[in-house]
Amino acid sequence: DVVVVGSLNLDLVARATRLPGPGETVNGSTFAEVPGGKGLNQAVAAARAGARVAMVGAVGDDNAGDVLRSVLAGDGIDAAGLSIVSGVPTGRALIGVDDAAENSIIVVPGANAHVTLGEVPASSVVIAQLEIDPALVAEAFRTAKAAGATTVLNPAPAENVTDEVLAHCDIVIPNEHELELLGGAERLAELGVTTLVVTLGAAGADLVEAGSDPVRIDPFPVAPVDTTGAGDAFCGALSARLAAGDELPDALRFAAANGALATTVAGAVPSLPTADRTRALIEG
Ligand code: ADP
Repeated sequence: DVVVVGSLNLDLVARATRLPGPGETVNGSTFAEVPGGKGLNQAVAAARAGARVAMVGAVGDDNAGDVLRSVLAGDGIDAAGLSIVSGVPTGRALIGVDDAAENSIIVVPGANAHVTLGEVPASSVVIAQLEIDPALVAEAFRTAKAAGATTVLNPAPAENVTDEVLAHCDIVIPNEHELELLGGAERLAELGVTTLVVTLGAAGADLVEAGSDPVRIDPFPVAPVDTTGAGDAFCGALSARLAAGDELPDALRFAAANGALATTVAGAVPSLPTADRTRALIEG
């Protein structure tokens, strides 16, 4: 089983020829409401990769919260650990996208700032990101490790990483940009991170285990249309395969194939592949 401790957002995406400047109004062309938040994305990724998944997080007592709960239900994700907080909105991201695919984003954490751990269900893998209070993630990891679970951190946004969180991680999965913000692989090793997986986009990923040379996880060749959600697909699928008992190299290969497939469909949640498609890519 996989427990995901993290954020859920309803993203509001408007397209316009160009983005408005301060004080300016522009006409938009299209609008869509799409489920998001790294926590929700990774929970859906793990569920589609075949794991039994429980989500720990929070939404508001509003329509957006209902939408996100139906997304969880649609993928069979246990929402018993999801708080419904009244008086605050469900997390939102207001996203403007222009014709050059440049974007500007306002994120309002809303209910994501009110997550409580309560009874975190027992599981073999706990995965978290840092769009919620890092102290809460550290506490969830501490409890999970004491119960024998493997803890996986996707340190995004990297600004929210604390030494306390890192102290309770078995596996840390940054992308190159996040790794740089964290001060590089050597610094993380000094802080006690023994297993680091650096995702490298189209180049695949590197497994860096303390005291050994990096091992490249080769990319699966695909024709990308939208890379949104690739990292979440990778992290969710890796957790699912570790929970199923795979050794790390096999789980990483599956995660790389899953991440590659996520780039071939637009959007985050709609692009997250099922296990049969991922297996088909691996088996060629
Ligand atoms: P993030 O979305 O967090 O920046 P990456 O872009 O590094 O994450 O993607 C996560 C993983 O998905 C990569 O490690 C790789 O395995 C896979 N992936 C991403 N983009 C591609 C691509 N263009 N071709 C093949 N695999 C990809």
